[in-house]
Parts: sequence; C-alpha cells; structure tokens
Amino acid sequence: MKYEPVIGLEIHAELLTNSKMFCGCSADHASASEPNVNICPTCAGLPGALPVANKKAVELAALVGLALNCSINKRSAFARKNYYYPDLPKGYQISQFDFPIAEKGWLEVNADEKNQLKVRVRRAHIEEDTAKLTHEKNYALVDFNRSGVPLLEIVSEPDMRTVEAALDYATKIRAILRYLGVNSGDMEKGVLRFEANISVRPVDSDELRKRTEIKNLNSFRALVRASQYEIERQIKIYESGGTVEQETLGWDDARGVTISQRSKEDAHDYRYFPEPDLPPLNLSDEWIQSIREQLPELPEAKTARFMADFALTPSEARLLTSELSLANYFEEAVRHAKSSPKTVSAWIAGEFMRNLNERNAQPVAVPAESLAQIVDMVADKVIGASAGKTVLTELFERGGDPAQIVKEKGLAQISDEGFIQEIVAKILDDNPSEIEKYHAGKETLLQWFVGQAARATKGKADPVLTKELTLKGLEERRK
Ligand SMILES: [Zn+2]
Repeated sequence: MKYEPVIGLEIHAELLTNSKMFCGCSADHASASEPNVNICPTCAGLPGALPVANKKAVELAALVGLALNCSINKRSAFARKNYYYPDLPKGYQISQFDFPIAEKGWLEVNADEKNQLKVRVRRAHIEEDTAKLTHEKNYALVDFNRSGVPLLEIVSEPDMRTVEAALDYATKIRAILRYLGVNSGDMEKGVLRFEANISVRPVDSDELRKRTEIKNLNSFRALVRASQYEIERQIKIYESGGTVEQETLGWDDARGVTISQRSKEDAHDYRYFPEPDLPPLNLSDEWIQSIREQLPELPEAKTARFMADFALTPSEARLLTSELSLANYFEEAVRHAKSSPKTVSAWIAGEFMRNLNERNAQPVAVPAESLAQIVDMVADKVIGASAGKTVLTELFERGGDPAQIVKEKGLAQISDEGFIQEIVAKILDDNPSEIEKYHAGKETLLQWFVGQAARATKGKADPVLTKELTLKGLEERRK
C-alpha cells in the first residue's frame, strides 16, 4: 500500500520587543546576559505579582497575523494553561485559548517542484516563553531570563502532504518574520522553533489518523530529518499491522531518531481558564487599520515585482528576495548601473554571493555603487570578467575605489586589435606542430592557443577578440 503523510506545523516565534510580555524586564533576545539577571516578581512567578500586557508585542503579533492573511479579532483574551514543570515558575503559562488575536489565514507554498499549495493558517496567538533548562548529568540548571519573553505561536492546518511543502512553509514564515522585523530568525539562539504534527494514511484516503507531535525542532535540517524519520516510522508500524499512538516526541539529533516523551495531552488536560489578572484585548478597526498600513512589501510580492520590472526568472528573483537586505542592495545597485538588471542579478547571484558566504559578510560590506561600477566596467570591456572578480574580492578584503584598483593592479583589458594580432601571430609561429595537429582535426587545440595568448597578456586581452584572431590565423595557415 502507498502512504502519504499529513503534516501540520506549529511555529513558536519570539517577538522582538525590548521588554518581556507581562513585565518590564529586558527580553534580551540575543541571550547576551548572565543567567537569571533579567527577572522580577512577575516573571519569577512570586505570589501577588500582577502581569501587564506588552503593547508592542500585541502590535507585532497583529502585524504577523495580517501578513499571513489572517483576520484580526477585535476582541481576544488571555487564558491560563495549567501544567507543572520546573521551567514554569507560576505553574501555569499565560496564553490565548478560545480567543486568539489572529485566525483563518493562509500562505502559499511550493508543494513540490511544480505545484503550489495554499496552506491554511488556523490561528496565531500570543503567549509567554518558559524559562530555559540546561540538563547536566545529575542535575539541571534553570535560567529565568527567558521566562515571560513574548512568543507568537502560529498554527497551521494539517494541509501539507510532503516534507518539502513543510520546509517551504517554515522557510517562508521565517522570511516574512524577518521582513517584518518581528524576529531575527536566528534559530541557533532559539528565537524560532518548530513543532511538527505528523500522521500517515493510505494515498487517496481523506481520514485523519492518530498523529504524533515532534517538539522543539530548532533548525530546518532538524525539521526535515525528524519529519522524514517519523513518516517512515509510522508507515512501518501500519505495514506490520500495528497502530500509531497519539504522543509527544522529542528529536535526538545526534542519533537521528524520535523519542517518546509522554502520551499527548488534550486541551482539557491543561484546565484552561480565563486569566483573571488581565483584561481582554479590545482592538478598534482604526487600530487594526493603522497596523495594516505598516505592512511592508513582503517576499512574494517583491519576487513578482522583480520578475515584472527587471525581467528576472523566478529563481533569480527568489534568490534576491530571500533576504530583505539583499533585495534592497540589488535595487540600489540597479539604480547605479548602466548595465541591465539581469546582468547585475547575475553578478550578485555568482561572485558576490560567493564572497558573502565565504566571509559570512553582509551585502553592505561593498557599496552597491561600487558593485555597479564593476559590472559596467566588464560590460564596457574596460576590464575582463576575471579581472572584475579580482576587483570585487579586493573590495571585500580591503575596500577602495574600483577604477583605482583597476589602475593600480594594471587590470585594464587590452582591446587593441593590432597588439593582440601580434601576440597571436607569434604564438602560432612558435608552435608549428600544434598547428599541424589542429589542421589534422584536433580542434580542441583552438582553446589551447587562446589560452597561450591569454597567458602572454596576463589575462588582459579581450577574450572574444583573441579567439576570433586565433581562428583567423589558423585558417590562414591551412595549406
Ligand atoms: Zn520580569
């Protein structure tokens, strides 16, 4: 029997506020502080301390909701989710239950190489993060700096049928959060975590079977590996006649396996009830509209515009819009360049990205105007393409002015036909036996002759002209 997976994702994203969700403590998203310094009676769960909702967090949550095509509820409310764990000093987490701030949205993702899929976003709700536990051999350490940091939990419907679709959904959400400036996307610091709900069923069936939930996936790689592992595990169970139990799983990245943590709780296990210390959030139409007006151009719209305005292919446009800083850089370079946007795009996708990745640098490391100058010098044949790469590397390493670097390093391209002709003639005259072989049919030698001419001019001779003159010379010497 053929099986298909049914995948839903929950994404926990810290909201990039200065202070925590319900108190004035620093949210310290960079985890730069010593342990247990950003705490107060409220986030340490001391009796009698009262929470106050963070206005900025509510704004950021609404912004994300709107970006994900959700409707924003004019009335949402906080609730207590009761459970005991050492990372939860109050014995309950303040979250939103019946009345989330946003619901019923969607996001279009790539289902596979050819097809698009509209993944429904069930809801997005505000909650507070727990403290951080570090498990040692015989004990565990707890750091309350993270306790009470604002989180947005974005819950999808189980609409994804491939791991690729789940990965694309997660990737797109991360890009949107970064475009909105509500989350750094820095998964190594734990500011963005995924949970995958997975079940499998026979292809062409529409039943929803028992699902498992894999917690705390902290990278795209972990999301992909854990999902693939879990899908195969469940298929094996069904094929051997067993049944899958609803449970919560952990992911052991080193061993590459999911591990049972506990049988899955249902909502009633948490004894949710309305948070008595916080009033409901009442949002006016005007307020929601003012948040809507803050929405920037998002990755999908920018990709479409780059394709339309700059005649880029989908993959060229998607690469440039993957990061807002890169997209802005491209547009600035295009404004400065005489060359076509497509030519600028090719330089960015190639040599520029290679330098960025190699140096772990940001685009601004080289001014967009300087990149435009290099692209134009190559297009105008002032320098060759390889000299252009040399200038770009020099700019990354030491900075400076492109034209000045060309001058200092003597990189200017030679396009003087008479001069190149002389060099080509000398090379041909010096290698009669190679000419003979060429005339006998070994045509690959053409490239060898061109290479000799390039070496004689230290790569500065116009390569197209050099090839033309070499071919001409070889034909003239045919007997
Ligand atoms: Zn606090």
